[in-house]
This record gives sequence, structure tokens and C-alpha cells, in this order.
Amino acid sequence: MDIRRLADLEEEIGRIPLEGKAGSFIRNEYMEYDFSIPVDFKSILVISFPQPHAYVELETEKGVLKGMIPSGYYNGDQAVGIRDAVIETFERNGEKAKRMHLPMKLLGARSGLTKYGKNNISYVEKFGSQHRLNAFYTTLEPSEDVWELEEDLEICQSCQACAEACPYGAIPKSEFLLDTNRCLSFYLDFEDPLPEWTNYSKINTLVGCDHCQDCCPLNASAEMVQWGRIPCGQLQEILGSDNYDDLSEETRTNLKMLGFDDWYGLFRRNLKLVCHR
Ligand code: SF4
Ligand code: SF4
Repeated sequence: MDIRRLADLEEEIGRIPLEGKAGSFIRNEYMEYDFSIPVDFKSILVISFPQPHAYVELETEKGVLKGMIPSGYYNGDQAVGIRDAVIETFERNGEKAKRMHLPMKLLGARSGLTKYGKNNISYVEKFGSQHRLNAFYTTLEPSEDVWELEEDLEICQSCQACAEACPYGAIPKSEFLLDTNRCLSFYLDFEDPLPEWTNYSKINTLVGCDHCQDCCPLNASAEMVQWGRIPCGQLQEILGSDNYDDLSEETRTNLKMLGFDDWYGLFRRNLKLVCHR
């Protein structure tokens, strides 16, 4: 895409709060982007790579539970390797690419790479919603001016699976506009108290929420991957300590490997919910 399309992205993102579906919580936490047009770059490259939903095995006293992690919430060697490969490929060819934080779902749709499902998730051909979008500014001239307005999946007109699966009624049956104020996924990403309408028996994710993706026919062939395991002793240690630095070295090493060390407080809050539901 032409880098000047940043102005259109900004304009579209700016319109969302005016449509009354995003509360102040969502606006403050999710809509902070830098849309200024950089002098050195000419285009935006949008890529998608497959990333299945993952789970961490949790050894509890009641048995082994699965703590789910939706696509997009974990990195791993594959994601890092792909991003590095993009940047190195540009450098090898005398160009530059720089990874950027942008509104990925909107950018994916406008680039024509993805479409929106009724659940407001990005879908890509072949991998359903189990993929990861990344964006880079590049020094390449854009080959054409891409700005795709056909953004919704056709199949959703005759399917209500996600609207029926959402425990909070966040997905209207009749329109393509998620009620973000009722989507628990946003709240599970932050340590603030959860809304009073939360159904705790439905929380099975260590971050985010994926009921509306698990039920989707476009994800029917997707297989989950195991992201790691937290043995019983480590689990008890984590549940008993709100201070990451007080954990044993072995537990800290495991959490670091899983990528939970950077957001220990939130991970621990959600872990407790998954274990006690
Ligand atoms: S992420 Fe969870 S809360 Fe949000 S729409 Fe999907 S099922 Fe509902
Ligand atoms: S569950 Fe059905 S309606 Fe929802 S995104 Fe998937 S195909 Fe569309």
C-alpha cells in the first residue's frame, strides 16, 4: 500500500468512537497509533503467516487443564524468524523495512489480504482466523494504489455460530459490528477489574478470549499447538506469589520461555480464573 494511505487509516480509526460502539476503556487502551507519514518510507507491506491457537498445560491438583492462548498473543521462533527474514530480505536488496504498530485488522482488510468475520476477527484464505498479521514500512515504491472496501466474509451472511457462542452477546446477529463494550477479550488483556457481567465459568484463556473463533467453521481444520507446561509445584508457587521476583529460578525460567514474565500480574490474574472456574 502507498504510505500516504496512513491518512485514510487515521481517518477511519478516528471515526470508530463516533459510531458509539467503543467505550472509553477501549479507546484509551487500543487506539494509540502514530499515523504521521515518515520521510524515508514509501509503502506499507502487510504480511500474514499461519499461527494456530496454542495452549499451556496446567498441572493442577484436580488434573491437567488447558490454558488457551489465541493466535496473535504469542511469538515464538517462527514469528521472530519471519519478521527478521522480511527485514533482511529488504536489506540484501538495498532497501529498508521497519516493523510498525498499526491497526492491523483494518490494514489487513484495506490491503485486500484479509476480510472481517462477523466476530470482528481478521480472516485469511486457507488459515481462517488462525494467523498473525504484521506490518512494515518499506522504502519500495508501491506498485499500485490498493484500498479494498469489500471487507466482510460472505459466509457470515448465512452463519450465526460466533454470535451464538459469545457468552456476552457482543456479536449482533444482524450486522457486522462488534459491541466492543461487551467483548471480554479487551478486558482480559488488562489487570483492571473485570466487568460485573463477566461469566467466570467461561474463562479458559490466559489472555484474550476465543469462544467466537473456536466455533467458526472456517477454523474447523485448525489444530492447536502446545505452547508449554506448568508443573504442579510451579503452578502453586505462581498462585501464591504476586511478585515475579519471589519465584524460584526454575519457575522464572519457565515463565520467561513462555513469554509470561513481562506481564506476570495479568497472566497470574487470568491463570487464577482458568484454574478456579
Ligand atoms: S472474543 Fe469472546 S467476548 Fe469477544 S466477541 Fe468473541 S466470544 Fe465474545
Ligand atoms: S462463526 Fe460463522 S458468522 Fe462467525 S465469523 Fe465464522 S463464518 Fe462468520
